[in-house]
Amino acid sequence: MSFLIAEVIVDVSTYHVDRPFDYQVPPEWVNVIEMGCRVKVPFGPRNVLGFVVGIKTETDVPLNKLKSIAQILDMEPVLTDEMLQMAKWLKNQTICYEIDALQVMLPSALRAKYEKIVKLHEDPNIPSEVQVIFGKRQKANFKEFERAGLLPLLKQLVAQNMVTIDHVVKQQGHVKEIRMVKIIEKPSIIEKAIEQSARAVKQRLLLEWMRQHLGEVLSPQQICEEAGVSSSVLESVIDKGAAQFIQEEVYRDPFTKEVSRTQALQLTDEQQIALQAITVAMEKQQAQTFLLHGVTGSGKTEVYLQAIQKVLNEGKEAIMLVPEISLTPQMTERFRSRFGEMVAVMHSGLSVGEKYDEWRKIQQGKVRVVVGARSAIFAPFTNIGLIILDEEHESTYKQEDSPRYHARDVAIWRSEYYNCPVILGSATPGLESFARAKKGVYTLLSLKLRALHQSLPTVFISDMREELRQGNRSMFSQSLIEAIRVRLEKKEQMVLFLNRRGYSSFVLCRDCGTVVQCPNCDISLTYHRTTEKLKCHYCGYEEHVPQICPQCQSDHIRYFGTGTQKVEEEIYKLFPEARVLRMDVDTTKHKGAHEEILAAFGEGQADILLGTQMIAKGLDFPNITLVGVLSADTSLHLPDYRAAERTFQLLTQVSGRAGRHDKPGEVIIQTYTPEHYAIELAKTQDYEPFYEREMFLRRRSSYPPYYYVALVQISHEDVMMAAEYAGRMADWLRGNLSNQVAIIGPTTASIARLQNRYRYQCLIKYKIEPNLIPVLQRLLAMYRADWIKQGILMTVDLDPSTI
Ligand code: ADP
Ligand code: ZN
Ligand code: ZN
Repeated sequence: MSFLIAEVIVDVSTYHVDRPFDYQVPPEWVNVIEMGCRVKVPFGPRNVLGFVVGIKTETDVPLNKLKSIAQILDMEPVLTDEMLQMAKWLKNQTICYEIDALQVMLPSALRAKYEKIVKLHEDPNIPSEVQVIFGKRQKANFKEFERAGLLPLLKQLVAQNMVTIDHVVKQQGHVKEIRMVKIIEKPSIIEKAIEQSARAVKQRLLLEWMRQHLGEVLSPQQICEEAGVSSSVLESVIDKGAAQFIQEEVYRDPFTKEVSRTQALQLTDEQQIALQAITVAMEKQQAQTFLLHGVTGSGKTEVYLQAIQKVLNEGKEAIMLVPEISLTPQMTERFRSRFGEMVAVMHSGLSVGEKYDEWRKIQQGKVRVVVGARSAIFAPFTNIGLIILDEEHESTYKQEDSPRYHARDVAIWRSEYYNCPVILGSATPGLESFARAKKGVYTLLSLKLRALHQSLPTVFISDMREELRQGNRSMFSQSLIEAIRVRLEKKEQMVLFLNRRGYSSFVLCRDCGTVVQCPNCDISLTYHRTTEKLKCHYCGYEEHVPQICPQCQSDHIRYFGTGTQKVEEEIYKLFPEARVLRMDVDTTKHKGAHEEILAAFGEGQADILLGTQMIAKGLDFPNITLVGVLSADTSLHLPDYRAAERTFQLLTQVSGRAGRHDKPGEVIIQTYTPEHYAIELAKTQDYEPFYEREMFLRRRSSYPPYYYVALVQISHEDVMMAAEYAGRMADWLRGNLSNQVAIIGPTTASIARLQNRYRYQCLIKYKIEPNLIPVLQRLLAMYRADWIKQGILMTVDLDPSTI
């Protein structure tokens, strides 16, 4: 019998340890365990989740100290070799715990609670001891095999495809198999039960209710709600035989509607040249990164589709990333209409169970294309031929929690692993990417014309200061009102865009000027009309709208500012006949809401689509001829060195929604600062002059892409402690980094208090600093060993998207 040791990374980031621990593999699992399997191992007083990252035959741990793995959770590894390597790289690249890097690659179902089941396929060769476990069932619990010591045999059966291992996600509302209650059909049994439970009032109540619902199958929640009893009452009634639990399967299909098939289009010359360059890299099996810079409507997506077709012809797989869930309905539809059942989707709008199902489809090779948001970059494909990031400049590609990775970096890492190309596509590439393309690090491909040879929309600027001078106090300029009127008359469609950040409504006292603030954060609360509540968008705190000022007790308190709801009301005042669809956080809460709204708009059920950031990108509707930007300024004044870049990108993106097909488009941008270069240049939608101008400013103030920045933040509940440790941190960094590095700080963070914690930061600017990562790792080690006990929390971000 061989002696086997597994190296396990355990989920104990709360203990702040970050190295593999050795565990003995129990003899019956020696032939089962593999690297990349999940296990349960004893750690301190508990059993914790762990990942097997190495298998060996020797250990330095003395035998009397060596513990055994308690349980094996996977028959087949959930993490491939590639992923284990990628986790090591991620850990270094982003300075995170290895466990965080491992977990980010898995759907949450495999991190959280789930139950594993074994499904029987029809096969006469199933050995008899296994048949005993199944009995007459098609499914058995994984644990039964473990208890019977049959794991090695089970593994063989999986390999021979006689059984399948599946996970049942037990999260409420997202279950694949749900527990239902079937009420007995015979009234006699119920009547008998009623007699027996004479004194149990609640039970009687339920039984009486059941008598009206004989033979029905309902969820336990629904029964309890309708009968007005608790679940324990239901259970005792079930014990009496009046009803029984049954399992019902729910098919989780994230695609809500059928799509018709489309054929590849005849490419324009520019598209053809781009596709050709990408094809050459694919044929040469070359890890090459392309920056596809194409104006809005230039047909980038068609290039992606045809490149992916080539990948599929080669028998390989493709990952297509889109920045936001709201983009996925239209994008997925385009992909599904080209590649049919080959496509999986992955984004935050799916339930836990759906995400797991999509992940499984990818892992088992049932699909070969995935369209998804950031985390889809970890799709468990094993033969990738192409990775695409559409709208590559978007900040959603950067994760803001540990591991703080950028999907673009992961894409490039994977492309090197698989020797395949990456396409970064955008009408307004991030400055970093364009600079790299100019240097030749990326290969630049340009689409300068719109695919259908439409001209770019004409952009007009409305100077809102001028409007005010002329006595127009409404939120619409005269020209925008006129433009809307004309569209309504011509029955053409419009998009009105409200830059929500910093623009939402707050409650203000007109006597003393107090703005109602979150008690936990230095942020004003946002007014939500539908619920009549004030909410903190950072910590989730909410309260009812106060009737009197908390500061001066005045009752002259009211909400200010412009949320989408307010805009909607204004539109109806001006144009009672207009049909408006609003798309914002409030109207897209329920599942599938994005799809529904966009589908309704596509079918012409509304004249105006009104929304926030969500509608800025990706929409492709032929009938849109007007785009109105209600306030271009809000994103311009954020305290962030990328504010101008973001504003330019946003304006160009929204403008690009207009006139994409045969009708010409018009854009009206309302602003209080028409002279700002980001707005002037957005008017001509000319990327390169903007790039040159912005690069000049970045160089002058030593910001990226000329310099790299890293951000270290700390927080504490006590302001003095936070300040003291911020000072220590800054001194320590100055003492340990070379004097080529600029350390700015400590300063208070842009939100100085969040969730009752005071926040300070140091910004590190550098060109070359080989020591940076080791130094930051030492800083973190010091923090984990000591500072954390003082109640300090620290985060390190090597590529902060805002500072
Ligand atoms: P982008 O992704 O660059 O914004 P799209 O791929 O959405 O552009 O293309 C804009 C419109 O042009 C779409 O309606 C698309 O179907 C159409 N289109 C793209 N390429 C072609 C082509 N080669 N021939 C005809 N129509 C095209
Ligand atoms: Zn007041
Ligand atoms: Zn708050």
